[in-house]
Parts: sequence; structure tokens; C-alpha cells
Amino acid sequence: MDLNQTPAERQFRDEFREWLKGNLPAEWIGGGINSEERGAYIDYLRQWQRKLYEGGWAGISWPKEYGGRGASLMEQSIFQEEMARANAPQLVGTIGLSLVGPTIIAMGTEEQKARYLPSILSGDEIWCQGFSEPNAGSDVAALGTKALRDGDDFIVNGQKIWTSFAQMADWCLLLVRTDPSAPKHKGITCLLTDMHSDGVSVRPLRQMSVTPVLTKSFSQTFVSRARKSWVRSIRAGQLR
Ligand SMILES: Cc1cc2nc3c(=O)[nH]c(=O)nc-3n(C[C@H](O)[C@H](O)[C@H](O)COP(=O)(O)OP(=O)(O)OC[C@H]3O[C@@H](n4cnc5c(N)ncnc54)[C@H](O)[C@@H]3O)c2cc1C
Repeated sequence: MDLNQTPAERQFRDEFREWLKGNLPAEWIGGGINSEERGAYIDYLRQWQRKLYEGGWAGISWPKEYGGRGASLMEQSIFQEEMARANAPQLVGTIGLSLVGPTIIAMGTEEQKARYLPSILSGDEIWCQGFSEPNAGSDVAALGTKALRDGDDFIVNGQKIWTSFAQMADWCLLLVRTDPSAPKHKGITCLLTDMHSDGVSVRPLRQMSVTPVLTKSFSQTFVSRARKSWVRSIRAGQLR
């Protein structure tokens, strides 16, 4: 593989470096904001993502038709290099941008794409990933969280763990068991779950290694009833 930059890649780097110079929040340069208050910090990160979005720099790997930049792998790595070089704040919507958005683009309905993709790019809605459970880590097929159809809703019961960003998330890409009689690698459904539903509770796990203000912290997420959590369910077997 030729890792030398093409003229177009050099131009991409120059353009983003220039944009960062003009848009990186002044108070961030030199090591970060001094905020003890978690809420203010999250708002700050949301504003930063919105700025990137408005500048056309959020979801750069997404296809242009969905609001991305259609960036190549080389351009994505240049983007990350420049973010690191500028010591830019992290993207608070990283799970939406890197995992949920691409999944919805690949598997979602047009209605789901129109509903969810713009707010993932702008950072207006933050997503988390509800796969791991206390007894289903590496072996995710052991998951025990159950979901039962109830008209337009699912009734979900179970517990997730290591849910990064759960404390601030509006939505969760949630794996649940919908067919308990199927072999354990089947009968699993992926729900788009509203974290503000009645019955969803989040308990932060305090870590020795990080201060509470950092967003990259873990939670346990308990779900007893999640309403209106889907438009079309996505079978786990199709998520390859
Ligand atoms: C930074 C970070 C962020 C994360 N964020 C999320 C998140 O947002 N959402 C989420 O759902 N999860 C998240 N996780 C969880 C993660 O993706 C894994 O699911 C989880 O860490 C593994 O489960 P466990 O801790 O129960 O370990 P286990 O699955 O119990 O594994 C423990 C050890 O046993 C080994 N092991 C397990 N099974 C076998 C086997 N069959 N054969 C041989 N060795 C085996 C493993 O390699 C490991 O060394 C995160 C983890 C990290 C580190």
C-alpha cells in the first residue's frame, strides 16, 4: 500500500488544519476547560460537535447523501491525526457517529434514516451502545435482556453494563432477546431505544482511573420498560 499522500489528500489535510486553526475554541487550546461541572462540560462538547457539523467535519466517513463527507480511509486517518495534533476536544457523539449512524445507513428504513441521522451528526442526540451484560461480555450471544412486543412498543427487561456515555445518552442501540426458544446466537433483535423512557435507569460506575468530569465513563443501565423504541427491528443475524 502506498502511504504517500496524494495532492488531494494534502489538500484535505491543509483544509482541515486551517479550519481547526480558525475554529478550535480558544479556551481549549493549552489543555482543556477548567470545569468541575459535568453538565457544563457535556454542553461544551455538544457545541464543539455542532461546530464541526456546521463546518462539514462531522461524520466524515458517512456517504455524502446522508450528510457525511464520503472521506476515504486515508482521509479519515488524516482527520484523526489533525484532531490529535491540535489537541481538539473529543466528539461526544462518537458512538452515534462511528457505530449507530453507519448501522442505520446499512440496515435502517428511510424513515429511520430521516429521523435519526441528522441529530447524530449535529450532536443534538447522543447515543450509547447496550450490548454487554454482567454475564454476556465477550460472549454476547449469552445476553439475557428480554423484549416482548406490545403493540407499537417493546417491553424490555434486563441489565446492561460498561455502557459508555449512558449518563448523557438520549438513545441506545440495544441488543435484546426476542425469541427465547431460538439457539443462543439467534433470536436477538437490535432496538433503537429511547433512554428517556419510563423504566430506564442509569447508575454510573466510578472508576479509579478517571475523574467524574470525563465523559468516557461507564454505567450500568437497567431497563424495565422502554416505549416506542423502534420503527423496524433489525435482526442480529443481518448485522454483519
Ligand atoms: C473502554 C471500553 C468501553 C466499552 N464500552 C462499551 C459500551 O459502550 N457498550 C457495551 O455494550 N460494552 C462496552 N464495553 C464492554 C466490552 O466491549 C466487552 O464486552 C467487555 O469488556 C467484555 O466482557 P467482560 O468484561 O465481561 O469480560 P469476559 O467476557 O468475561 O472476558 C474476560 C476474559 O476472558 C476471556 N475470554 C472470554 N471468553 C473466552 C473464550 N470463549 N475463550 C477464551 N477466552 C475467553 C476474554 O478474552 C477476557 O480476557 C466496553 C469496554 C471497554 C474496555
